[in-house]
Amino acid sequence: MRVHHAVAGVLRPRFAAPAVCHVLVVEHEAGLVLVDTGLGTADLADPRRLGPVGRMLRPDRDPSTTALAAVLALGHSATDVTHVVVTHLDFDHAGGLSDFPQAVLHTTATEWAAATVATHAPERLRYRPVQWATTSDVRRHAGPGEPWRDGLSGHEVLPGIVLVPMAGHTRGHAAVAVEGDAGLVVHAGDAAFDASTFGACDPGTGEVLGKLPALRAFETVACRQPWRLRRNHAALRRLDADPAVTVVTAHDPRQLPVDAEV
Ligand SMILES: [Zn+2]
Repeated sequence: MRVHHAVAGVLRPRFAAPAVCHVLVVEHEAGLVLVDTGLGTADLADPRRLGPVGRMLRPDRDPSTTALAAVLALGHSATDVTHVVVTHLDFDHAGGLSDFPQAVLHTTATEWAAATVATHAPERLRYRPVQWATTSDVRRHAGPGEPWRDGLSGHEVLPGIVLVPMAGHTRGHAAVAVEGDAGLVVHAGDAAFDASTFGACDPGTGEVLGKLPALRAFETVACRQPWRLRRNHAALRRLDADPAVTVVTAHDPRQLPVDAEV
């Protein structure tokens, strides 16, 4: 499967360096599959959709940085997207869902419950149900799934695409692994913010990345279950240590420069 990396949102908070919303566009036999959706065109047209926290992050309003723009740039149309697999449903990951209302949404059962029917008070600001109001087909994957690799388990939601529960950032957070032509690509979502946490290298130079303290601080603030962070980082480190595996985070701009093209 060909795996394309794209920017679906650029966040420019006053208190930290810019962050991206990194999504994958996968050419799958079942159609185009998105891994995460970043911010959508409706969010950029009206940032009030993102709520108070979203507005604080000051997203760029350039519609060329959306999953829809990435899909169109590849020569496809929005309706070619048949499935969307999300790491979680925070507003900076689920915003593009409304650009692909016909797509089947895959998420963990825990995440869907947290975002819809069993939202706890501290979670109210992070989920924006308007973002998936037009999504009608939701597949909720319950439990840990089948043993996968490196001590992890997962749900094969489509051939070659595995949803790997990795709770912590949210109660139902997961990583998403895609068997790409050039090796396994693991989208870690927000299981790590700073890619140096798990020893990632600069994709251009191959040099080991340095720490980004501001991104790490934000990770701690935004984490629902902070006691799980270290275990998740260790799991990502084990995966990334395999030369045939590339682990990417959602927000570290060094893994996908702000001006990256599809
Ligand atoms: Zn995020």
